Amino acid sequence: MNCLYCGGKLPAEAAFCPVCGSPIVGEEPETADPMTASRRRQRRVKQGLIIASAVIGASAVVATATTLGIVYYKHTHGGLTKK
Ligand SMILES: [Zn+2]
Repeated sequence: MNCLYCGGKLPAEAAFCPVCGSPIVGEEPETADPMTASRRRQRRVKQGLIIASAVIGASAVVATATTLGIVYYKHTHGGLTKK
């Protein structure tokens, strides 16, 4: 096996090229295997959904807090202006 970057000869179990220091990626089974690739994509979609729901949840909390704050403000300050 030779280095993809410099073409230098690599030891069988090398993780980095001893010539140029590049990490050895090998045959990249994730892109070669469509099953693994789709599973990877699914996981990324799942992560995106988790992030999206977290953002929605956070904004919902903020919206609720803002609404409660307005209601509380109106409740406490509304009585004074009525006078
Ligand atoms: Zn190299």
